[in-house]
Amino acid sequence: MGFEKFGRKSFTAVTKTGKFVDLLIEGKVEGTTCKKCGAKFFPPRADCATCLSKEMEWFEMPKKGTLETFTTAYYAPFGFEADPPYTMGVVDFDGGLKLFARIAKEVKPEDVRVGMGVTVRPLKYEDGQVSFEILKA
Ligand SMILES: [Zn+2]
Repeated sequence: MGFEKFGRKSFTAVTKTGKFVDLLIEGKVEGTTCKKCGAKFFPPRADCATCLSKEMEWFEMPKKGTLETFTTAYYAPFGFEADPPYTMGVVDFDGGLKLFARIAKEVKPEDVRVGMGVTVRPLKYEDGQVSFEILKA
């Protein structure tokens, strides 16, 4: 149980947050929140980086965020050679929660703007691997 089904090239096989991939397969993009101090994390963490508690629970990512920044890659690392060009961005959700992901192919790079309303959704590749992506809200 781990990240075997995650992304185009997964370098993490075993992790305490492997449920993240199961949730993506179910169609949910979730992070973790600390039961003690309320800190929220995405990607999900098994332990709280704020108070070090191990008492974490899952929460569904907010439906609306704001695109904080983006860039388009014309070259890619090992395992992603066939993908460029593709655009990636950072989404800011209220409360300081951030998310980094690719922007959906259906969103034309020339239509991407800092400050635009965006959301995140699960992504299933044709080979069964899963991930998540940003699209216009
Ligand atoms: Zn905490």
